[in-house]
Amino acid sequence: MTKTGDAHPTPVFLLNQTGSGIIPPMATPEQIEAGLERILLKVQKPGRYVGGELNTVIKDWDRIDTRIALVFPDIYDIGISNLGLQILYDLVNQRPDALAERAYAPWVDMEEQMRLHAIPLYSLETKHALADYDILGFSLPYETLYTNALNMLDLANIPLRSEQRGQADPLIIAGGHACFNPEPMHAFIDAFVVGEGEQVLLEIIEAVRSAKAQNEPRREMLLRLAKIPGVYVPRFYDVSYLEDGTVAATTPNVPGIPGVILKRMLPQLPPPPTRFIVPNIDVVHNRVSVEVMRGCTRGCRFCQAGMITRPVRERSVDEIVQAAEAAVDATGAEELALLSLSSSDYTDILELVNKIGEKFTGRHLTVSLPSLRIDSVSVDLMEKLKDRRSGGFTLAPEAATERMRRIINKFITDEQLLETAREIYARGWNSLKLYFMIGHPSETIEDVQAIVDLCKRVLAEGRKSLGGRAKVHAGVSTFIPKPHTPFQWVAMDTQEQIQAKLDLLKRELRGPAFKVSWTPPEDTLLEGWLSRGDRRMAEVIYTAWRNGTKFDAWQDQRQLQAWSSAFASLNLDPAFYTHRTRRFDEVFPWEHISDAVRKKYLYRDYQRSLDGGTREDCRDDCDACGILPTFAAARREYPGIYWKCPEVRH
Ligand code: SF4
Repeated sequence: MTKTGDAHPTPVFLLNQTGSGIIPPMATPEQIEAGLERILLKVQKPGRYVGGELNTVIKDWDRIDTRIALVFPDIYDIGISNLGLQILYDLVNQRPDALAERAYAPWVDMEEQMRLHAIPLYSLETKHALADYDILGFSLPYETLYTNALNMLDLANIPLRSEQRGQADPLIIAGGHACFNPEPMHAFIDAFVVGEGEQVLLEIIEAVRSAKAQNEPRREMLLRLAKIPGVYVPRFYDVSYLEDGTVAATTPNVPGIPGVILKRMLPQLPPPPTRFIVPNIDVVHNRVSVEVMRGCTRGCRFCQAGMITRPVRERSVDEIVQAAEAAVDATGAEELALLSLSSSDYTDILELVNKIGEKFTGRHLTVSLPSLRIDSVSVDLMEKLKDRRSGGFTLAPEAATERMRRIINKFITDEQLLETAREIYARGWNSLKLYFMIGHPSETIEDVQAIVDLCKRVLAEGRKSLGGRAKVHAGVSTFIPKPHTPFQWVAMDTQEQIQAKLDLLKRELRGPAFKVSWTPPEDTLLEGWLSRGDRRMAEVIYTAWRNGTKFDAWQDQRQLQAWSSAFASLNLDPAFYTHRTRRFDEVFPWEHISDAVRKKYLYRDYQRSLDGGTREDCRDDCDACGILPTFAAARREYPGIYWKCPEVRH
């Protein structure tokens, strides 16, 4: 059904064979609008597909040089609140010579109708077919979106593989945390943005504009992009393998491009967006967000985001308060999220919360502050924000024994945790949600049993204040040794091990006072394969998609069998990626992608974890992770208090 013959083998494929489901190579906005009129009343939530929301930007298509579609490969209800996409939308649309529009993945009912009526994937703003844009910018914050990205390219009638695209096809770029290991998607994406996309996207627009003006061949244009710092163009790199199947090296195959692609990092955070798009329908997070800081210095050893977003850069209290007010005024929002990886580590958090409280007194605004530390200051903060709508309070100890919390470098004592729980119940919250992770390195079944014991001790604290009204909710996920973390050398639990641990928790935490929610082992394994994969995973992803899988982040849609068959048909062993301890000197598939944190530093930290050694917040005592020497010139240029690494004078 596409130009390349990459047809999705669903019943729709049969329609294509009859000719009635073929998506035309080009469709005008008018044709697409007419098609939508025929199908929208046949799908759930048509509001997902019509656009026209408050604060969308519509420019004169014919007067703009460079047109970008920002693509979020999950449904509107989730993608609409993605802050990264909103930042880029705002940034590009500030330029008079460029426009940014949006596209989200249609839900299965809409996809079926679109294929049936030959409607290609289109932007919400102007209903142009995605194939008409100069650039499609995919947001890939997590790996379980990969098959959706393929499906969206197919629905857009764009060749799936980079090598099959021609001069008339859009440039397909991708950014987001998952791109710190781009290799599993290397065959489908023309260029990856590594790190923070704000500046680099504008540089890509410039490069594409110049290339277009000179009618430059596609390969030359891609070579231009490969020379932009922070841009990885996979076709210009070759991968060699050792006999044992591990990577020997990834090396450039053309001169003049870097052997290692260093992430982009903004020394100072730009002004936050405030004109948020207001969704037409009820969505998962109907709120405006202000990012209070980027990066995290706590050093939790399982946390990829904490490593790849270093260093910490904060915004000033005044800038945050002004942005919050502007965003609420521009949208009428009733919820404001102050986002960061670790909110209570924001230096002036008390002042910020007080000022937000003063500014919005009497305005019926719920303010949320995710990722709080386990201490009484956090309870004070939550009380000030009066976020009682859910009646719940969330803490993330991640592990239930002090030994294990040392190993993962999220150390607090049991007594500190119980004291915080006591405070929470005493101040009237009746439900406490505790996030745990199972499968940590060197975890024993006793460590899992300790989750049960800790939940029971926490409940006992609650009952002292609230009697039978106290509740505990244990949220359980499973550890994945993510790239660029100190645990990237570790093997992850097998499906049987995960299942046995979950069975224990479900069996022991029974009764009306407890609730247990968990990530199914299949989801964890799939995320493990995709996040740790090498270039060979690209064919697995393609085959799994051909086998009918998409919406892998949705438990009711994901088909593990399609993935297992894909591995089998390609003669690849999934355990090779997930259940194998790596040699110290193993070359990782992501080794040519640098977040500036040194591999030796990560390995030393891994070794230290085995001895029960912890690290403090590095803002108080720099651990020399590698960020500062790499970005020393930038630090010199941007001295001051908002960037939390030590200043560099010489
Ligand atoms: S350079 Fe030092 S202060 Fe900065 S992120 Fe690394 S360890 Fe932390």
